Amino acid sequence: MTRIDGHTYLIGLMAYPIRHSMSPTMHNTAFEELGLNYAYLAFDIDGDHLKDGVQAIRTLEMRGANISMPNKQNIIPHLDKLDISAKMNQAVNTVVNDNGVLTGYTTDGVGFVNDLKRKGHDVSGQKMVVVGAGGAGTPIATQSALDGLSEIKIFNRRDDRFANAQKIVDLINQETDCQASLHDLADDAAFKDALAWADIYCDATGVGMKPLEDQSLVNDPSWLKPDLVVYDTVYAPRQTKLMTIAKDAGVKNVYNGLGMMIEQGAAAFKLWTGQDMPIAAVEAAINEKDGQA
Ligand code: NAD
Repeated sequence: MTRIDGHTYLIGLMAYPIRHSMSPTMHNTAFEELGLNYAYLAFDIDGDHLKDGVQAIRTLEMRGANISMPNKQNIIPHLDKLDISAKMNQAVNTVVNDNGVLTGYTTDGVGFVNDLKRKGHDVSGQKMVVVGAGGAGTPIATQSALDGLSEIKIFNRRDDRFANAQKIVDLINQETDCQASLHDLADDAAFKDALAWADIYCDATGVGMKPLEDQSLVNDPSWLKPDLVVYDTVYAPRQTKLMTIAKDAGVKNVYNGLGMMIEQGAAAFKLWTGQDMPIAAVEAAINEKDGQA
């Protein structure tokens, strides 16, 4: 706290509810570690106060903000510019204030791709199956396609997200060299075949976390080959039912979403400060806070 003075840059997290977020721990640890004169605070901002929240970024000359639900889409009309990541996903999780010009980004997809890279897997040239086309699945699909994925099969149940999934598939086919297709998650045979075909399987649904923590969308271990990369975006619990089934099936590379969460923060951190986030220190601080140390 001694580093806060009259020159400290403020960064805010604007969402509701938001007090449970790990982002203040993550960014303030990184500022301390690197001796940067920034402070990161969480603000309960719901849809009714979003316009005022964005105005505060301008008035207080904040360096920027993270944006979460329910504001990720609604903030778009209040910003001056959108990066391609925000344009493709029609959602913003990071705002950067460059001398009064506010630009929106979505760093979740970069977070996924960079976490896989850190673990030794490059999405370039790979084939991926993603289940889910919401706030997590959409940027995972678009960023992986932008970063050279060769083919993607998106599976979704026929709920209100199915139409969004079709839009994302069309966008990927138009804007990138990746070949995308959409499939009904109820089609077991197509899902099983796709898992046998894929290099990477990503579950981007809430299945595996409360209240569905004892469930997995894949229940037959024989559907998961040992060399498949299995990635569950859930990180609470750290070990999901899918991860247990994959490990029992002999899959070597099985991951939860903690690394993606940290890397999406690292991408925002780089946009605000120009510096690389000290990942190991941040991970240790999160583990301590989470009682996992
Ligand atoms: P969302 O509500 O925006 O989208 C959920 C998606 O999952 C939709 O496509 C929906 O059709 C599908 N889905 C939901 N329940 C399902 C079920 N029972 N069976 C099959 N499909 C189902 O949610 P979101 O924001 O995309 O979050 C999805 C998951 O990703 C959550 O578990 C969340 O914790 C996780 N997440 C992780 C990170 C990270 O950094 N690791 C970031 C964002 C979200």
